[in-house]
Amino acid sequence: MAEPYQSLYRRFRPQKFSEVRGQDHVTRALRNSARDATVHHAYLFSGPRGTGKTSTARILAKALNCTDGSDGEPCGVCDSCVAVTAGTSLDVHELDAASNNGVEAMRDLVARAALGTPGRWKVYIVDEVHMLSAAASNALLKTLEEPPGHVVFVLATTDPQKVLPTIRSRTQHFEFRLLGGELLSGLLRDVSSTAGLELPDQAIDLAVRRGHGSARDALSVLDQVAAAGSVEEETEALDQLVEGIVERDAALVLSAVAEAHSKGRDPQRLATDLLEQLRNGFLATMAPELVGLPDEARQHLAEQARRLGTAALVRAMEVVGAALVDIRDALDPRVCLEVALVRLARPEADSSPEALVERIERLERRLAGEAPPAAPVARPAAPTRAAEPPAPEAPVDQAGSGEAPPSGDRPAAGARAALGAVRKQSGESRPPGGPSPRPGRPPAPPKAPPAPTSAPPSAAAPAGGGQLPGRDELVQAWGDAVLASLKGRAKALYRVGRFVEVEDGTAVFALPNEPHRKFSEEVRPDVEAALSSHFGVRVPLRLVVEDGPGSGSGEVTPDDHVDIADLTDAPVDGPATPEERLREAFPGASWEAEA
Ligand SMILES: [Zn+2]
Repeated sequence: MAEPYQSLYRRFRPQKFSEVRGQDHVTRALRNSARDATVHHAYLFSGPRGTGKTSTARILAKALNCTDGSDGEPCGVCDSCVAVTAGTSLDVHELDAASNNGVEAMRDLVARAALGTPGRWKVYIVDEVHMLSAAASNALLKTLEEPPGHVVFVLATTDPQKVLPTIRSRTQHFEFRLLGGELLSGLLRDVSSTAGLELPDQAIDLAVRRGHGSARDALSVLDQVAAAGSVEEETEALDQLVEGIVERDAALVLSAVAEAHSKGRDPQRLATDLLEQLRNGFLATMAPELVGLPDEARQHLAEQARRLGTAALVRAMEVVGAALVDIRDALDPRVCLEVALVRLARPEADSSPEALVERIERLERRLAGEAPPAAPVARPAAPTRAAEPPAPEAPVDQAGSGEAPPSGDRPAAGARAALGAVRKQSGESRPPGGPSPRPGRPPAPPKAPPAPTSAPPSAAAPAGGGQLPGRDELVQAWGDAVLASLKGRAKALYRVGRFVEVEDGTAVFALPNEPHRKFSEEVRPDVEAALSSHFGVRVPLRLVVEDGPGSGSGEVTPDDHVDIADLTDAPVDGPATPEERLREAFPGASWEAEA
């Protein structure tokens, strides 16, 4: 056709029921009606824009008047079909109520409907029917109440709730759906190859993303991309932004904005796209079926989202969403966007509760995430530990955040669940005063189970197994988990001590003075149990007075001083709640408990 440029959407409009994508539930019924001549007088096609409502209405018109159709499908080549396709058929009348909603136009349409051509079907398509004026709606309703023979009204609308109920009730209602990511990208690939466009995958992905399930919108993006030549920078900028947030790289984030800016990208558009990207990432981990993207792109987003973590992701969406609102009124929208992005890339500079939750989650994930390397070591022994908690898998699940693992609290999503999970773990490693746990276990594999609680020790641990952790491991685990897991008295007494060394199969723990050491001796089994539970090997403790075993001078520095009389009443008891732990970790931060 030697016509001026025709959009892809118009050029590749479906011409048969079988070519309409994603609306099988509608086209099947219509095809059967056309075949069996059981057509209704009025249909209501509702659904988002660009999902094929008008195209389907035209196909129905063709099918009804086709002289050579088969099985309800129009032939596409007879005079009638060609005329409908060309828009010159006298049997099809269209009225776009969005541009012409007055009663005059409707009366005109209705008058023509009355003058039916015998033996032929007249199809009246009213687009955006909900926009008809009240008078026009009533005129339409009158006709629908006593429809002339061989007349079919197809009323299309994006908003069926706004259509008069009296009109609605006289129609057969079909709902058109948004196209899923795979369906849409399949359509775009077909169109792109039929049109000889040879577009890169990123172009398809971009069009799918921007299309939001609408074939028309996606194809019009494809049009723009084909005209512009390339899209790679666009998706790259978004990818870079998310990557910068994931990697805590403020420089990367700012350079991505700068680059997008230099390419003439509007900050508001960039923020909108970023929000969409983050949202898709969130959905990709939580409800992949809701992501309107091709599988590969979705997996990439899911992977980024997992690395970012749920709390960070939610916060990022909130911050970017808020920035979008601000950008509208901002004198310099770019600065507005940059500030938001830097807040995301540098959460340590942000003291909001959301940022704190995110930081905690990140710490937890670091602990959990470093564990997997230890898992292969443990695997060979797995059969003997079949009844054990699924520890080696746990770190993977923890890091995975969305894969619905059978164990752990994580799939419930969100930072609260993450906090709960950790509390549970430290709870497990805290048999109150109990004996050394899991006594009969072989020495080597036990390295793995405690890994989720504290990865660094396990990573640094000798592969031989059964060995006592080194001093550094002890110190680290102590600060990270073990001390916090102790009960009140033990916790209060041992808080002021420190690991000095590991000597002769015993961990040497120093306390400020002899009386303190003596009291500490009474709860030593509790502490040993906690350590043993944490490391999976027995950790005998030898308590010494600071500055070595011999020099116990009883000297008490003001800082170290513990009033023994207070100890029995020490209020520190029971497991700390997540909120308490938050407050302890970030003194002074305002924190609203959301229990
Ligand atoms: Zn035909």
